[in-house]
Amino acid sequence: MFKNLIFDWSGTLVDDMGPVIEATNAVLGKYGIAPYNREGFRRNFRLPYREFYAELLPNVSLEELETHFRPAFDESTSPVTILPHAREKLEWARSHGLRMFILTSMDATAFSRQLDEFGMRHYFEKTYAGVLDKRDLIHRIIETHSLDKEETALIGDMTHDIETAKHGGIVSIAVLTGYHHAELLATVRPDITVPDLGVLIKMFEKRKAERPIATVGALIHDGQGKVLMIRTHKWSNLWGIPGGKIERGESCENALIREICEETGLEISDIRFAMVQESIFSTSFIRPEHFILLNYIAKAESYEVTLNEEAEEFQWVTIEEAFSLELNTATIQLLNRVIKDKLLL
Ligand SMILES: [Mg+2]
Repeated sequence: MFKNLIFDWSGTLVDDMGPVIEATNAVLGKYGIAPYNREGFRRNFRLPYREFYAELLPNVSLEELETHFRPAFDESTSPVTILPHAREKLEWARSHGLRMFILTSMDATAFSRQLDEFGMRHYFEKTYAGVLDKRDLIHRIIETHSLDKEETALIGDMTHDIETAKHGGIVSIAVLTGYHHAELLATVRPDITVPDLGVLIKMFEKRKAERPIATVGALIHDGQGKVLMIRTHKWSNLWGIPGGKIERGESCENALIREICEETGLEISDIRFAMVQESIFSTSFIRPEHFILLNYIAKAESYEVTLNEEAEEFQWVTIEEAFSLELNTATIQLLNRVIKDKLLL
């Protein structure tokens, strides 16, 4: 499930192809180049637009071209409209707590005017307009807003949008409502391609209807009364036990061995099942998830813990000492069960 959406503007949320083609033809006409019809424009136009113009008018500067383009764009009487499903998509995303951004090549003044005309400014945490090459900015946007790449998608209608998403290491979603044909978009292999934003909403809703997630975790001990506690930002910086999701086709025990090795670098043995727990939309977890937690007890082969990026800190402590840490609820229940049923003895 995505938490952050970076939208392109033209061709993704609004249809401004009319004025853009008119203005482009006005520019080309100044230099005696034949105008494009809509289809011809869709086949040939590309971003960054300096590359498009460099091919047609190699000896003319971008600044000079813009002096022709802007007035023609402003004077165009072709309408700019919101694309079908665009507002619906933004409303849906807002009501589900998604963070939204705009990354567009459109001139910042014209963009700002359209944003207000359509009353869409309030949907976006931040907008970036007048960006000639979006690849130059994508890393900075991800860093500035601390976006988790796995939970972030860029939605756009042109190959440049898809290339920008790939450059930033985020998910690329192509919509077919804009400047580029499906055939051309397919050459840059978007992660997801949808005919329009309406279909994208349906896809997101389906994902939300996914089943609970089965996970394994282990209370790891050293055979001499100490257990391993780790603190992770994923559980509100609370202390708990290491573990993670079972992959499709993987046995619970193999998942446990793999997860513990990934998160702590430890090899474990003497694996025993302890208890099952449910965690349904716990507000301590980083996002609302429905987990089924299979808890094990396992012995570590060494004390040498190497944490990966999922955890912040670890400690080897007695169970009594563990209770003095700020623990997540599931771990409190597990430790109580371990004491009650003498599972560590
Ligand atoms: Mg676009």
